[in-house]
Amino acid sequence: MEKLFIQKCSKCNKCTFPKKYFCSDCGGTEFDMISINEGKVQEISVIRHMLGQKDWTPRKIANIETTLGVYITAGIEDTAKVGDMLEIYSDNGAPVGKVIKER
Ligand SMILES: [Zn+2]
Repeated sequence: MEKLFIQKCSKCNKCTFPKKYFCSDCGGTEFDMISINEGKVQEISVIRHMLGQKDWTPRKIANIETTLGVYITAGIEDTAKVGDMLEIYSDNGAPVGKVIKER
C-alpha cells in the first residue's frame, strides 16, 4: 500500500481528485502533489455487480470527506461505518480506506 496523492493547485490551492489537467477554479496547470492521510465516511454503497466480472464478490465503497476537504470515493472494509475515520491509501492507484484502530 502506498499513500494516495492528490493535486493541489499551485495558484489558488484548490485540491483536485481524480487527476485533472486544469484547475477547475482558476485554470492553472501547475499542481503540487499532496498526500491524503485520513478521511471520514459520509456515505456507503455496495457494488453488487461489475460488468464483465464473473467472480465478483459484493464490495463496499464509500464517499469519504478527507481532512483536506476533498471528497473521494474509495473501497472500504466491511466493518467501516458512516462517521468512521479511515486511513486512506492507494492500492495500485485505486483509493482504499482502512478503519483506524482504537489507540
Ligand atoms: Zn487553481
